[in-house]
Amino acid sequence: MSKIGSSTKVKQTIKEQDFYIKKKFGQNFLVDQNILQKIVSTPTITENTLIIEIGPGMGSLTEHLIEKGKHVLAYEIDKDLIPILNENFNDQELTLINDDFLKRNIDEDIKNLNMDFDHVCVVANLPYYITTPITIKILEESTMVKEMVLMMQLEVARRLTSKPSTKDYNSLSVFIQYKTRAEIALKVPRTVFIPMPNVDSAVVKLSIEDDIYEKPNNEEHFFKLVRASFTQRRKTLVNNLHFNFQKEKEYYINVLEDLGFDSRIRAEKLAVEDFILLSNTLSISNKNKE
Ligand code: SAM
Repeated sequence: MSKIGSSTKVKQTIKEQDFYIKKKFGQNFLVDQNILQKIVSTPTITENTLIIEIGPGMGSLTEHLIEKGKHVLAYEIDKDLIPILNENFNDQELTLINDDFLKRNIDEDIKNLNMDFDHVCVVANLPYYITTPITIKILEESTMVKEMVLMMQLEVARRLTSKPSTKDYNSLSVFIQYKTRAEIALKVPRTVFIPMPNVDSAVVKLSIEDDIYEKPNNEEHFFKLVRASFTQRRKTLVNNLHFNFQKEKEYYINVLEDLGFDSRIRAEKLAVEDFILLSNTLSISNKNKE
């Protein structure tokens, strides 16, 4: 049987179904069976796994996911792709939701399937214009998803996985690595897509675990602190904190020195655990002053 994710098949579908590729939906269809195989062998998928796919497109990845897991729940925004997908798959193997993923309640959709699963994971070749909002939404809103394998721009993949003191390390790196074990599983050249994007890609594996770090005393304060610390990369941490939280610079200098940091340090030098320590100290001293 000819696979959906081949350049001949995708071109044939475009022609026969009168389909036109929509740039505004970030449509770059994957047409390399070798890469597709590598993507589906990255997560832990058993016969009892529910796989969530965002943007199934014509179904090239979906086809492999259905072979491996118990069921696939897929969200596709483009209504023109729905008849194409319905022609290729039946509802025993695929539940297709024609909607913007960003508007959905993921855990509600999973519960509405009325099925039992051991494990829920997300596998997707993401629409690149909303890679970050999709990733953050899943991490913030779902208690059921435990693993994600996501194709994205190489540049974003580097941000999610980069370590302190590197040029790609920023508040998103801290947020992602606080919530997950993050690694680049595979680099993907631009030549394996139709149409070919302007950038290279990578597949990132994110394993969601609760106990990677001890929880900060005030998680909301921790997230605020991390964002504030990176507002102006070239400024020192003290300057960014003073600018965002309005306390005197002296105050932040003293806190940093008490914790054993150089008071001229920049945010990019701080590891996740350093931000947790700093957040715990600042939120306690703030409380004592109130
Ligand atoms: N999975 C297919 C493949 O690998 O060939 C297509 C991947 S393509 C990069 C991204 C897909 O996401 C497209 O099918 C696009 O229509 C869909 N998409 C874009 N924005 C979306 C959104 N907000 N919600 C759901 N699907 C979306």
